[in-house]
Amino acid sequence: MHKVERNEAPQELVEKNNIINQNIDNYDINKEWSKFTSTDLKKETLNRLKEMFKGCCAYCESKFDDNSYPQIDHFKPKSLFPEFCFDYNNMNYSCEKCNMYKRDKYDEMLINPSCDNPEEHMRFKGVYLTSLDERGNVTLDLFGINLEDRLEKKKEKYNTIREKIETITNVLKEITTNVNCFNEQVKTLLDINIKDIEKAFDISSEYSTMVKHNFENDYKYIQSIMKKLETL
Ligand SMILES: [Zn+2]
Repeated sequence: MHKVERNEAPQELVEKNNIINQNIDNYDINKEWSKFTSTDLKKETLNRLKEMFKGCCAYCESKFDDNSYPQIDHFKPKSLFPEFCFDYNNMNYSCEKCNMYKRDKYDEMLINPSCDNPEEHMRFKGVYLTSLDERGNVTLDLFGINLEDRLEKKKEKYNTIREKIETITNVLKEITTNVNCFNEQVKTLLDINIKDIEKAFDISSEYSTMVKHNFENDYKYIQSIMKKLETL
């Protein structure tokens, strides 16, 4: 989980939210929401959220494939806070699993990646997100992020990046002992692997915070050696 800057709400949604909140007692919020789910405005809202979260789930940072669909998560559940049901600032881009584990639960301590900085409260150790304080604890429990059945894809990503880092550092070690090894072929191999690593750190990549917390130092080391090699 990492911090995300909120973008602007679709104007039509802002207007809808205003209308409803002028007289909220007159509305059955669940009915209003289920009407909304089949509209173009819902599609536009989801697209705006996708843009904001770079296509990753706000909470577990998974990406979506043919078998998984993004959902709008009400950070403050609409059953407890009907007044925020159509408030864009209360909406996050979520995978089905995070949305399902969270359901109608809410806690004041819960970390919202579009307001708080999750990295101040939680940090990855391997594929497990660990808490640094009570807010981290509450958040991890509520989203079920470390449940074993949700770690498979994360483990794959972790191993792929670890292997690439190992390949690069081994090649770099060889070069530093014998600089003549640094030919065009080796340079191309390094460039390809380093580009992949760079991409994995980008927040539009799946599980980028896990990659960052585990491999930040390795990546800095690789960058510093590459800089030295460029001057040769
Ligand atoms: Zn998720």
